[in-house]
Amino acid sequence: MSLPSPSKETSFLIVGAGTIGLSTALHLSNRGYRNIVVLDRGATIPSAYSAGNDLNKIVRADYEDAFYATHALNAIQAWRTSPVFSPHYRQTGYLVTSSAAAPSKVTSHISRLVASISSHPSQPTSSITSLPTPSAVRGKVPHLTGPLTGWSGYFNSHAGYASAAPALKAVYAELLARGITFHLGASGDAVAILPDAETARYFPAPKSYIRTADNQIHYADVVVLATGAHTARLLPAAGAQLTAKAWAVGHVRVNAGEAARLRGLPVVNCRDLGFLFEPAPAGEEGGEEEWLIKVCAHGGGYTNTCKEHGSTSLPPSSAAENNAIPVEDEALMRRLLQEALPEFSNRPLVRRFVCWCADTADSEYVIDYVPGYEGLVLAGGDSGHAFKMFPIFGGWVVDMVEARAQKEKRWRWKAGSSDGKEDIDWRVGGVKDIKETSRKGDDLEAARARL
Ligand SMILES: Cc1cc2nc3c(=O)[nH]c(=O)nc-3n(C[C@H](O)[C@H](O)[C@H](O)COP(=O)(O)OP(=O)(O)OC[C@H]3O[C@@H](n4cnc5c(N)ncnc54)[C@H](O)[C@@H]3O)c2cc1C
Repeated sequence: MSLPSPSKETSFLIVGAGTIGLSTALHLSNRGYRNIVVLDRGATIPSAYSAGNDLNKIVRADYEDAFYATHALNAIQAWRTSPVFSPHYRQTGYLVTSSAAAPSKVTSHISRLVASISSHPSQPTSSITSLPTPSAVRGKVPHLTGPLTGWSGYFNSHAGYASAAPALKAVYAELLARGITFHLGASGDAVAILPDAETARYFPAPKSYIRTADNQIHYADVVVLATGAHTARLLPAAGAQLTAKAWAVGHVRVNAGEAARLRGLPVVNCRDLGFLFEPAPAGEEGGEEEWLIKVCAHGGGYTNTCKEHGSTSLPPSSAAENNAIPVEDEALMRRLLQEALPEFSNRPLVRRFVCWCADTADSEYVIDYVPGYEGLVLAGGDSGHAFKMFPIFGGWVVDMVEARAQKEKRWRWKAGSSDGKEDIDWRVGGVKDIKETSRKGDDLEAARARL
């Protein structure tokens, strides 16, 4: 297969304006490519279908694997210094703990994490503090008022969080200001990669084009699929290595006084329960008085296997289906709040939703040409840990396109088959299908009634 050698006139079509797609557009533009078009099925950016469309995301370089730690440290540097990204980064620090109930898988993972990050040559000296007891945890993070039963772990001051949706919006605004074309909603909703069996006789195979829901055909020299968890709906062959998996998110409302008291709270990640963040402004609907603490539950993730797609797991096609969370996750979130911030543990959880990622069996990203197509690139397999890489991820996609091959073996297209149930060593709990859970949401029934 002859792959296109890119020139500055090479045309690029990016399908998906989420975390990876926007980052790719930004890096292409930074390197002087002028012919870039981006599609997204969402009516606005960030899209309702993007895993990045969230209040905040953890930005940390604490990986067992020094390869990802190095990249994440580069990403943190970009979050701290880049004019587009830095307004959306808060270096509050990162508390990593286990609770009294944690299985040994969790405690040994934390031991490997701290060994890896504290010995990394680019991690600032004195940034890691060991916290072997609940009182040591409380001493380091006095915002925590709960019993912290059996909590032990460490604190990393060279980490924090990103305001996720505002960061996506900022990059989108930057790309618009640079004249990059976006098609959103039906005109950006990719429904087929051509040529398919029906259209092969009209198109010179094996070049790839995209058909959108408004029946337009989009041609480009290089088509980058950055469709996240939704990828296998468009490219079924990707379903053998990408499994759509969801995790639950909820929020607790706090008032301005409570938010002020919790200002500077580090990201609290209790690896067997869940994680929570410093309160953030609720946005337009809440005005200045309303703030939200985002809370997430840990677990092995939920699949949504679809018979009509050969039992591949895919997110529901309507975003409204995501506005409810499994009751077991709500229970975990409340346990985390009881242990860490009990004054909020009985408040209603608001803005509940499940968020879909594209998981790989080994948690490695996939950035490679798709076999059997010319000029079709898959940029995904985020495995639930790509938002922190938002400032730099697109650079890897452009490197691969310029090199016309993926030099990094771990990011190559994987032909092997994954059932999505593999034991992931940094996660706790098994994988369940979301249809087997009982879910609770603010407006799932109402949303369904409107469909
Ligand atoms: C609960 C939860 C918490 C997380 N926390 C963190 C964290 O703390 N730190 C971290 O680093 N990462 C975190 N992540 C992971 C992070 O959000 C993802 O890794 C990242 O957002 C994936 O980016 P993406 O571009 O692959 O997918 P997305 O951001 O989902 O983007 C995919 C885009 O493709 C569009 N699309 C889909 N299908 C089509 C189509 N057919 N045509 C056109 N457009 C289409 C969608 O609308 C969407 O905009 C978390 C994920 C979850 C679920």
